[in-house]
Amino acid sequence: MSLSQQNAIEQNLQNVREKIAAAAQLCGRSPEEVTLLAVSKTKPASAVEEAIAAGQFSFGENYVQEGVDKIAHFAGRQPALTWHFIGPLQSNKSRLVAENFDWCHTLDRLKIAQRLNEQRPADLAPLQVLIQVNISDEASKSGIALEDVAELAAQVMAMPNLNLRGLMAIPAAETDYARQLDVFSQMRDALKALQAICPQADTLSMGMTDDMPAAIAAGSTMVRIGTAIFGARDYSAKP
Ligand SMILES: *Cc1c(COP(=O)(O)O)cnc(C)c1O
Repeated sequence: MSLSQQNAIEQNLQNVREKIAAAAQLCGRSPEEVTLLAVSKTKPASAVEEAIAAGQFSFGENYVQEGVDKIAHFAGRQPALTWHFIGPLQSNKSRLVAENFDWCHTLDRLKIAQRLNEQRPADLAPLQVLIQVNISDEASKSGIALEDVAELAAQVMAMPNLNLRGLMAIPAAETDYARQLDVFSQMRDALKALQAICPQADTLSMGMTDDMPAAIAAGSTMVRIGTAIFGARDYSAKP
């Protein structure tokens, strides 16, 4: 990676942090309430290294094997990195997630929850999990309907190796700020409803490069940002 690209990641991270702070201040929230996940999918370990050098320690990955490879590459690093699985999860890959990641944002069915709970190694802290809600993207098969959250939440809460921390959503792409805000506000209300039965649920994972300010205005506590940090992704390079 060239020197100018390295500087770009550091500069991009600074810009994103400033945008988070601005969006938070605009609605009277503290910027510290919003955790920034750097979404490093399709990007090489060298790009992650640059982000670490710029003080970024939380990363999101979509593809299980790619994420596991990066986790192994940076294992033992101080300060420790936190790895979030944010992609669709098939049951034959659940063991790798349970054994390697700190968080899973895409829990959307009981079977996957049971497998993650069984497969989480006893010497690790419980896996921090979010239930993915299909809030607006009817075409997407990922996520459950809002009305099904309480039932799955109650089942997950009974699993000792999973810690239910809240909800996640990937709304359908939408450029209008008011409409983005409307959808994200439904998620904020859903988290409030969840907190009534699950007081430790403190996390709302929502907001990407193109809808981050609206997500923060609606109460996001975790934004997942890829493009604005690492640049556009080249999927043709993937095997
Ligand atoms: C790729 C991805 C992101 C990051 O998207 P950008 O638009 O590049 O910021 C966030 N969340 C999920 C679930 C993703 O798959």
